[in-house]
Amino acid sequence: MYISESVLKRMSEGSWIRKMFDEGIVLKQRYGDDNIFDLSLGNPVMEPPAEFYRELRRLVEHPLPGMHRYMENAGYAETRTVVAEQLSLETGIKFTMNDIVMTCGAAGALNVVLKTILNPGDDVILFAPYFVDYLNYIDNHGGVARALRTDEQFMPKFDVLETSIGAKTKAVIINSPNNPTGVVYSEDILHRLGEVLHKKETQYGTQIFLISDEPYRKIIYEGLKYPSVLHHHPRSIILTSHSKDLAIPGERIGFIAVHPACSQPEELISGLIFCNRTLGYVNAPALMQHLVCHLQQVTISVAEYQGKRDFLYARLIEMGYSLIKPQGAFYMFPKSPLEDDVAFVRELQQWRVLTVPGRGFGSPGYFRIAYCVDDRTLEGSLDGFRKAAQKFKIC
Ligand code: PLP
Repeated sequence: MYISESVLKRMSEGSWIRKMFDEGIVLKQRYGDDNIFDLSLGNPVMEPPAEFYRELRRLVEHPLPGMHRYMENAGYAETRTVVAEQLSLETGIKFTMNDIVMTCGAAGALNVVLKTILNPGDDVILFAPYFVDYLNYIDNHGGVARALRTDEQFMPKFDVLETSIGAKTKAVIINSPNNPTGVVYSEDILHRLGEVLHKKETQYGTQIFLISDEPYRKIIYEGLKYPSVLHHHPRSIILTSHSKDLAIPGERIGFIAVHPACSQPEELISGLIFCNRTLGYVNAPALMQHLVCHLQQVTISVAEYQGKRDFLYARLIEMGYSLIKPQGAFYMFPKSPLEDDVAFVRELQQWRVLTVPGRGFGSPGYFRIAYCVDDRTLEGSLDGFRKAAQKFKIC
């Protein structure tokens, strides 16, 4: 056997998102692209904003000396300074470039953080439903994932959290706006999270990191102000990317920001920089760092995503589906009309609508819709959703 047993095992457990995407390719070959309504993948439909191309053109026409060379592993000072300034503006907490490490997307950032902080066997708590690759990333670095159920609104159950944190708990990962539910954690929820962490740190004499995975933080609706974890726990590490807010997931650019009030931040930051290098990322892509340095205040059209949310949400509710109205990101997570979410997703497939079963996110009994698609696909999917609703008499 060429590949390790652990990789083989993880591969066979697989990702339902990838599985549905791959099945979609087969269906598209059979029925034609226009006849398949693929809502399975969180790949932004929009092109990057005009400012992105403007900066790209400017760089190509006026290249900077040495702009393709190796650099500090943390990233360019200029980019980190601009990122720190923007974060200070958004949160009211004073960041400097020394609190920032540029990374290969949020996925790279998560791996760097987990590699830096985990000892073998340390627990990492997450809340179901969760982004499934968290399990792989935690496993990559010798941690043990502890997934906790959430309440009906997909919010943490604080009594469960309290009893789940032990002496080996090193971190809690949260993701708001959330993939797959679209919910946003309020200040109150973050405050209560911070309180539990403080209580447990005191009880065990430990330090617990609150890792906030925020790639959708700029995609929030109805003028909501993004509530930041930074006000609720000093050992917060936030990480994000421009994959979704600039619609450039293929370009792999993101960053980590460590709360300036974290005790011994220099040690932590040195660890992050070391791991960025030794995990083999070395540094975030140079070209993208030069670009995003000038794009910190630019975002794709959030109104367009909100329009898609409003359109689909209203139709699904009319049809009888039960779901929480998303406040951000570009996903919905309705209850599956069948107890068996895989069977329901297969039923939708019969109508050429592709979604992902909730068990792919640690929450059976639901299914995920990614509505970051063009309007034709969204409109085309309605017939299948309606027929499935009628078949299972939810309307
Ligand atoms: N975290 C969440 C919750 C995501 O949904 C994704 C991608 O879909 C990532 C992290 C990875 O993002 P990136 O492309 O920036 O690595």
